Amino acid sequence: MISSELEKAPCAICGGIEFAELFKTRDYLYGVPGEFSISKCKNCSLVSLNPRIPKERIASLYPDNYEPYSMSFSQEMLSKLVAGQEGRRILLERHAQKGFALDVGSGDGRFLLCLKQAGWRVAGCELSEKSAAFQRDSLGLDVKTGSLLSSRFDSEIFDAITFWSVFEHLYDPLETLAEAKRVLKPGGVIAMSMPNFDSLERMVFRSKWFCLQPPFHIYHYSPKVMKRIVAETEMKIEKVYYSTTATSLISSMRIAKGHSISVQSDENANDATPTRISGSESRVKQFAKNVVFDCAIVPALRFADLLRLGAYTNYVIRKT
Ligand SMILES: [Zn+2]
Repeated sequence: MISSELEKAPCAICGGIEFAELFKTRDYLYGVPGEFSISKCKNCSLVSLNPRIPKERIASLYPDNYEPYSMSFSQEMLSKLVAGQEGRRILLERHAQKGFALDVGSGDGRFLLCLKQAGWRVAGCELSEKSAAFQRDSLGLDVKTGSLLSSRFDSEIFDAITFWSVFEHLYDPLETLAEAKRVLKPGGVIAMSMPNFDSLERMVFRSKWFCLQPPFHIYHYSPKVMKRIVAETEMKIEKVYYSTTATSLISSMRIAKGHSISVQSDENANDATPTRISGSESRVKQFAKNVVFDCAIVPALRFADLLRLGAYTNYVIRKT
């Protein structure tokens, strides 16, 4: 990426234009060339990718193999993907009344299908035309092509709105949250997951942290900053769940060691169950590694979550 293709943007929260650079990083996942600067707003502390690729151009940079857009799967694979969304459904149903749900950035429709099977009425919006068409034509889901802002849903129709690994991709987080509030029924719930910039993992790995993912992650949030953003829309964070998984930890370790990492998104990385180690190694070696993983790494990850230093955060926001 040549620097003339990048734009400097004011802070999305306070409009500030003075930033302090924290570090430079690269795209370790998809290989978009160039160095990217991660900066902190001097006024409100929101961390952003700045300069960044203009909003109009970013869609064309998402590769065809971007994981949430994987759509060529068998019925068996689809069932597996849908089952993988149970953790998110359970989290949502802990706070929201079953009714009409909207999934923003619904990807390949796996979460919408999971909710539908559990008796929800569902709708989605998705920026990728190809993905949106797949969800409509192959899965029979009610999905609009576009952002939440461009979709113009009627006011106060949804009981729940979800943003799974979506909010950090948004160029206009405040406007989007205000729009979510408009289309949400009073008493309705917004659930979202995103990487935690104040996590232990980010502090340890800094520019090599897996979750930075430039140029696609535009803003990097912490619970402190999210509290301020949500307050701006006169809503309230009801609960913050922390989760750390092996997916991001192992990927960060590989980046730090200079190894390439296979293309995978953070799509399921906020699930509560860490992924065990598998690969082409002998069974004995894999077994030994998994013993170490279960006895040492998993407790360490849970401890980080307990200290509110987990790599991922799930927010539940209520419209009163
Ligand atoms: Zn700011």
